[in-house]
Amino acid sequence: MKSETGQMWDVIVIGGGPAGLLAAGRAAERGKKVLLLEKNATLGKKLLITGGGRCNVTNNKTDLRTLLPKYGASEPFLYSAFSQFGVAETLSFFRARGMEVKEENDGRLFPTSERAQSVLDVLTHYIEEQGVTVHTNAAVASITYDDADGEVSSVISNTVADGRVFRITLQDGTTLQSKSCVVAVGGTSHPETGSTGDGFAWMCALGHTIKDNTFSLVPVALQDSWVAACAGITLPDAKLSIYLDGVKQPLQKQQQRGKLLFTHMGISGPLVLNLSKYIGSLLEQGEVTLALDLLPTLDPGALKARVQELLIGESNKQIKNTLGDIVPEQPLPKSLVAALLNLANIDGDTPNHSVRSEQRALLVSLLKHIPLHVSHLLGADKAIVSSGGVIPNEVDFKTMQSRVVPGLYLAGDLLDIDRPSGGYSLQLCWTTGFVAGSHC
Ligand SMILES: Cc1cc2nc3c(=O)[nH]c(=O)nc-3n(C[C@H](O)[C@H](O)[C@H](O)COP(=O)(O)OP(=O)(O)OC[C@H]3O[C@@H](n4cnc5c(N)ncnc54)[C@H](O)[C@@H]3O)c2cc1C
Repeated sequence: MKSETGQMWDVIVIGGGPAGLLAAGRAAERGKKVLLLEKNATLGKKLLITGGGRCNVTNNKTDLRTLLPKYGASEPFLYSAFSQFGVAETLSFFRARGMEVKEENDGRLFPTSERAQSVLDVLTHYIEEQGVTVHTNAAVASITYDDADGEVSSVISNTVADGRVFRITLQDGTTLQSKSCVVAVGGTSHPETGSTGDGFAWMCALGHTIKDNTFSLVPVALQDSWVAACAGITLPDAKLSIYLDGVKQPLQKQQQRGKLLFTHMGISGPLVLNLSKYIGSLLEQGEVTLALDLLPTLDPGALKARVQELLIGESNKQIKNTLGDIVPEQPLPKSLVAALLNLANIDGDTPNHSVRSEQRALLVSLLKHIPLHVSHLLGADKAIVSSGGVIPNEVDFKTMQSRVVPGLYLAGDLLDIDRPSGGYSLQLCWTTGFVAGSHC
């Protein structure tokens, strides 16, 4: 076994993702001697694929009373951490380092460069500037700690961290030591980026409780094979209703509408991702169907009148060339129109004047309620975040220090904190990373 026992680091940060990078830079800014360990050859691999490569860096909700309810049951835990480093502080951090942001729908903020690389560049310059030592290709295998009396332990302890030494063993056998340790190795979504859930086993061995690790914010696979032909189509404003064994399930108004994307296997996009956990829980109880409203801005009566007007006004045109123009500001793509006509069993070449009234009624009904039959939720490789992890009441959010192992700090996706899509995941990383780095 290789050993670097001569070297005692103030802080070892494990994980070179958003949470670990901010924690490492912040700790070094305070004058700590910091080592950052990352198992990949490069830092921030997952960060680079966020927001489709554009990185939805945070959400423009600077008021904690508006922002924190987005984190569901974890809201009460988060006030102290977010008061230290919230959205405003995050924006100042990036702006001070030359990265401006622009706002898109629902407060989503992206770098004006539209490149996640800009976000990573800020973070890598930050840690460089602060003198953080970085070891890449350094996969951590285990964490243990010695108490002041020299006893090696990985059991529950409530003693203070004074005199404690953390021993971090890499997969190649090298052992490193530090006075405190920040674990920011992420969850289990998109494991090819390095987030393989290693931290859950370590935390468990150290006495933490891990809520079952599953996935939230995950695309939904459908049984309806026609959707594959629509892959790539984005509907900026769609509405979904959910049925369990044919019975409509209650949904809050703001959960029902948003952006939807067709994929080869089903549907995704913020509207679907934010409902995916709920859909997953219903799938355990029975058959789940969705009703997709393609034009939620029109009620059925207005839609019926508009379709009628269009078919009469353009009576010699073919229905396949007409149906997409119902709402000029939200044209329906040709492949979606073709799928609709197919579902309604109407030949697309039919001239509008020959579309029968019952066919018109069927089209109106389908435009408001396309039935989608849920097959399953996609897995870790497609999930945006994992759900589950270290339970929040075992962490002191004023400092992000473990309540189980003093001297150990936790940040980012490793924590069991649910949130919707919209920049809330990365904001959680900036906040918990900064707070961990400020106190370790
Ligand atoms: C496709 C996709 C798009 C997303 N888009 C957005 C978005 O636009 N906005 C948003 O807010 N959120 C987004 N997210 C979520 C966001 O990426 C995560 O919440 C965030 O990356 C979590 O950061 P983290 O630092 O906790 O962990 P990670 O980013 O997972 O980083 C953990 C790091 O630890 C390293 N590591 C793991 N195990 C070890 C080990 N044993 N030894 C050493 N190093 C190790 C990993 O290699 C990795 O580099 C997206 C996620 C995905 C998958």
